[in-house]
Amino acid sequence: MALRPVSAKRQAEADLRWDVRQLTLSRARWRCQGTDAPGPCGGDLDVHEVAPRSVYPGGHLDSDNTIAICRRHHNWVGDNPAAAAELGLHRYSWEVTTTSKVVPRSETLVERHDRSEQR
Ligand SMILES: [Zn+2]
Repeated sequence: MALRPVSAKRQAEADLRWDVRQLTLSRARWRCQGTDAPGPCGGDLDVHEVAPRSVYPGGHLDSDNTIAICRRHHNWVGDNPAAAAELGLHRYSWEVTTTSKVVPRSETLVERHDRSEQR
């Protein structure tokens, strides 16, 4: 039985997604980056897309667009997009420039891994 050709692409995206998640969480030292939001942290640590996928397709694969945030503050961002935008935790479609959209990230991601290890 032949494998469907899409699976390799899907796997590559899943790998990249995993890399972005790991980079985001380690960069944040596994701490919530949304502590300017009201209330205490709570729940699991999520990887949040500052510009949502609806306005920035592929944004979940761009480590410049992701932050680590606890579940409680993640929910707050979802419920309060205007206030979250003021804190830099949310980005509107008109704030997303085409120059920030870089599709093939895998090579720059490796470079960033190297750089962060040197710190
Ligand atoms: Zn938090």
